[in-house]
Parts: sequence; structure tokens; C-alpha cells
Amino acid sequence: MCKPDAVERGLIGEIVGRIERKGLRLVAAELRDVDRALAEEHYDEHREKPFFGELVTFLTRSPVFAMIVEGPSDDTWQLCRILIGQTKVTDAQPGSIRGDLATTTSENLVHGSDGPESAEREIKLWFGA
Ligand code: ATP
Ligand code: MG
Repeated sequence: MCKPDAVERGLIGEIVGRIERKGLRLVAAELRDVDRALAEEHYDEHREKPFFGELVTFLTRSPVFAMIVEGPSDDTWQLCRILIGQTKVTDAQPGSIRGDLATTTSENLVHGSDGPESAEREIKLWFGA
């Protein structure tokens, strides 16, 4: 997902370009508004974290670009995580989306699934598939 900061900064093309140049492809995508209920459900695993409120407010700030990305095998989620880069902005390596384009951990441009089960859950949540 391109988060609100990515959409606001006009970086959808840059991010989709990196995904496509890697050899992965979009099979579904939608620019959409996010209400608090959807944002809270999406980041359910972080409910108890001190930054949860800020995270939900951020995700609902302006539209996100939600995507389903496919690759040749079942490790697509992992390839996406490599493209995205580390969570902590000071750990995100050059060459990754966050390493090249983000300056803060809270506004780090892209969300990626954490594994096959998380990807399946998120596809259902965002695309109802
Ligand atoms: P995402 O789930 O968005 O792909 P991630 O998996 O790299 O990010 P998570 O640990 O799932 O990282 O955290 C979710 C999001 O919460 C992060 O992308 C970041 O925007 C925010 N976040 C994580 N840790 C912090 C923190 N210590 N302070 C502020 N925001 C944070
Ligand atoms: Mg995460």
C-alpha cells in the first residue's frame, strides 16, 4: 500500500515503477479513502502500542493506494519487504523505497504484508476477495 504521505507527495508512480521493474505485477489496485475502523483493523496487531493513535490518524489523513502484488512464487510478500526497506527510518538502506525517499519512521510511504497469512488477511480486508 502507498500510504497517505506517498500519495500526497506524488510518489505512486515511483513506487509502482519499482515494483514493476523488480518483475512483480499489480493484479488489483485502488485509490481509496480510509475510515478509522478500517485503519484500526488493518493495524490491529499494534493496538496496544503507544503510537497506535497517531498511526490510525495518519492512515486516515488522505487516500491510500492499496495494491495486490503478484510474483512468480509464494515469496512475493518478502520481495516487497526488501523493496520497502526497514521500519526504522535510520535503518532503511539506500536502494529501498524508505531508504531513498523517507525521512521519518512514522511517515514511511509504504505498507507491506508480513507473510502469506497476513497477505491473505489484508487482501480480504481491502479488496473483499
Ligand atoms: P508497515 O506495517 O506499515 O508495513 P512495518 O511492518 O515496517 O510497517 P510495523 O512494526 O508493522 O512496521 O509498524 C507499522 C507502522 O507503524 C510503521 O510503518 C510506522 O509507520 C509506524 N511505527 C512503527 N514503529 C514506530 C515508532 N516507534 N514510532 C512511530 N511510528 C512507528
Ligand atoms: Mg507491519
